[in-house]
Amino acid sequence: MSVILVTGGTGLVGRAIQHVIETEPESSRFGKRSGETWIFASSSEGDLRDPAQTRKLFEKYKPTHVIHLAALVGGLFKNMKYKATFLRDNTLINDNVLHTSYETNVKKLISCLSTCVFPDKVTYPLDETKIHLGLPHESNFGYAHAKRMVDVANHAYKDQYGCNFTSAIPTNVFGPHDNFDLEDSHVIPGLLHKCYLAKKNGTPFVVSGTGKPLRQFIYSRDLAKLFIWQLREYDDVEPVILSVGEDEEVSIKQVADSIVKAVGFSGEYSFDTARADGQFRKPASNKKLLDLMGGFEFTPFDQALEETAQWFLQNYDNART
Ligand code: NDP
Repeated sequence: MSVILVTGGTGLVGRAIQHVIETEPESSRFGKRSGETWIFASSSEGDLRDPAQTRKLFEKYKPTHVIHLAALVGGLFKNMKYKATFLRDNTLINDNVLHTSYETNVKKLISCLSTCVFPDKVTYPLDETKIHLGLPHESNFGYAHAKRMVDVANHAYKDQYGCNFTSAIPTNVFGPHDNFDLEDSHVIPGLLHKCYLAKKNGTPFVVSGTGKPLRQFIYSRDLAKLFIWQLREYDDVEPVILSVGEDEEVSIKQVADSIVKAVGFSGEYSFDTARADGQFRKPASNKKLLDLMGGFEFTPFDQALEETAQWFLQNYDNART
């Protein structure tokens, strides 16, 4: 019997894991297995910045396995403005989850990092060996340092106590249940919301920047399967990058084109080239992942975007906007 506790289980990634667990057949590599109980915890069940509340959550469910997703997450603006809060909240959350997992003899813990942890000045493509080779970008300094320390802690808990702790490094995630806030969201949910409003109000759809930068986007439901694989089949402390391949980079223009199509927007559509573009590309390698898994079929980007757009349009009133 195993009890798998997913912290941050009500967010973008947590909801996707829940979807896969509830919809994939038991016979599939990613379906729920007999003897497994999955718990998807929200912050209302316990504020993980607080050690006592963390302990209480673990005592309530007695998890044998933990997928640790809970984090203070935000877009560029919020990260730049609240560096100390991002550093402190995420440090507290991670310290409480890791230490309580050790104290309660959790058999396996996977924590979620992000490609933001990588150094600002580094050779590309990013791979799992490059996390600590230089300072992260100053825009998300607090968030990145808090996340990096999880990798340090995983090694320390393994060396001192023999804990089976590891981490995953996803690239840019999108999908149903994302945060579609106009000011403080990632690029896909932000543009989807903007395009929806342009259609509704008969106004132009203006995309910030040139549209040229390239990014690797992973569909949350694909990422969910990779987390389930990592939980069941990967037993090493070193992180694994969970991403589509370097040859599957998509430009912001391609993203915007797909959004226009998915939303059915036929009005004026342009790029505000006076706005900053950010880094042109920061490709990450998924070689380790594919070598270990023996291959994985990612959902085509347009299909994943279409599914996300349909979810957003159907759930507009209840979505995080
Ligand atoms: P969301 O913002 O969608 O969800 C965050 C989750 O964390 C929610 O369930 C939230 O609970 C919970 N949470 C936040 N603060 C606390 C707290 N103090 N105590 C308990 N729970 C808390 O995040 P995502 O699903 O996008 O991200 C999941 C993980 O993936 C994070 O670790 C993030 O850093 C990482 N990641 C995300 C990427 C992305 O593009 N989105 C890219 C790379 C990594 P509630 O809903 O109750 O507030």
